[in-house]
Amino acid sequence: MPEKQHIVILGAGFGGLRAALSLSKKIRKGKLNAEISLIDRNAYHTYTPTLYEAATTSKETANYLQIKEIVTFPIEEIIKKTGINFIEDEVEKLDLVGGDIHCAGGRKLNFDYLVLALGSEPHHFGIQGLREHALNLKTFLDAIKIRDRIWELAESGQQTFRIIVGGGGSTGVELAGEIQGWLCELKEEFHECATKVTIVEAAPTILAGFPEKIVEAARKRIGDLGVEVLVSEAIAKADAEKITLQSGREMRYDILVWTGGVKASSLMGSLPLKMEKRGRVEVVSAMECLPQSPDLKLYGKIYGIGDAVCFYDPASGKPIPGVARAAISQADIVVNNIVNDLKGGKKHRQYKPFAYPYIIPIGGKWAIAKIGPLIISGFLGWILKGLVEINYLLSIMPLGKALRIWLKGLRIFIQNDRLG
Ligand SMILES: Cc1cc2nc3c(=O)[nH]c(=O)nc-3n(C[C@H](O)[C@H](O)[C@H](O)COP(=O)(O)OP(=O)(O)OC[C@H]3O[C@@H](n4cnc5c(N)ncnc54)[C@H](O)[C@@H]3O)c2cc1C
Repeated sequence: MPEKQHIVILGAGFGGLRAALSLSKKIRKGKLNAEISLIDRNAYHTYTPTLYEAATTSKETANYLQIKEIVTFPIEEIIKKTGINFIEDEVEKLDLVGGDIHCAGGRKLNFDYLVLALGSEPHHFGIQGLREHALNLKTFLDAIKIRDRIWELAESGQQTFRIIVGGGGSTGVELAGEIQGWLCELKEEFHECATKVTIVEAAPTILAGFPEKIVEAARKRIGDLGVEVLVSEAIAKADAEKITLQSGREMRYDILVWTGGVKASSLMGSLPLKMEKRGRVEVVSAMECLPQSPDLKLYGKIYGIGDAVCFYDPASGKPIPGVARAAISQADIVVNNIVNDLKGGKKHRQYKPFAYPYIIPIGGKWAIAKIGPLIISGFLGWILKGLVEINYLLSIMPLGKALRIWLKGLRIFIQNDRLG
């Protein structure tokens, strides 16, 4: 009897968790001779679309643990009874020729199949002082740091303060709109809404790359909320009190948040895999990673999905954007291809990118959604955002639990969404 195949999935984010859950079902159903290990540095899976809400929830509304419960979900609970072996550890080094994974603390694992799903990390583009002085909005703890910093300022008695959000992509716009709305709701603590939130964006517009109608609606909404927007202005450097723009203008801040870019997990850059022009690991349409040079023999089969890799859309020639939906679709392709390999099949399924629907919430109960050609903005967009969330929760946990978490989130987050 052939040896049991070991499938190791690195990262339990949107792509990695989907791959693990779906693979485990197929392995059990097909009685395949394989086992799955899933590794993540955190014991929990994070639902990133609500991080901006976590960053703007008063301590009076919800404590750390209550917020944690609605934004992050324990992996051990999600994978219960699936046979997946979950390892909470930091992946430090990968030997793709020897087939070894090295974790912090000396743990070493062997793989036959490897799925790289390590996601991305903030990209500071080498801007002087930015890494040291700016907060990020990438993880649950990042969100909590932003909220604690805002709360610290409120409690200090300081009556006016200035928040700068570097980067006017969807994360920056969501966060700026929500902070502005939230702080104006907190007039009792601040006596008046004397807070200024500014988005600084290097491109000529916020939401660069999005359709004009979306940009226009977002610009209007963000303006109505009172957020200041500076476009075609790049941050040249940051220190503990101010940023300096490339134009020479200096802007003092109390809180600086950087949402201006992400790059693939730094572990990816060190791998002997085929890279695209900007140094990211490139995957082919079966979501497989290729060796850096044709004569290099990689161990087992190595797949890559989600934000950690670069996939060129054959239609546009451009890399597809890093969104949860893409990571999930790519996970499905990888699962299919690994199962096919395990069954001894030769044919691999190919990933075909799609114009994934998206929703950008901007302050209170307002969001703009694009589904195919349809653009929906306002309260209806916000309702859609809630439906997308419950739909996702249902894909990773039982109905009762998903509903309980979703309703709890609704009850808590609605309190900083009073604004219509
Ligand atoms: C604030 C914010 C809002 C967003 N909103 C949306 C949205 O509304 N819709 C949407 O489609 N997309 C959204 N995104 C993007 C979406 O979160 C990503 O595209 C998606 O998470 C990518 O999935 P992934 O599986 O590639 O990586 P991730 O989901 O990031 O998962 C990577 C996992 O790897 C783990 N990891 C990383 N390095 C290591 C290591 N060395 N050792 C161990 N574990 C490690 C991490 O802990 C993490 O769990 C948002 C992102 C952010 C930051």
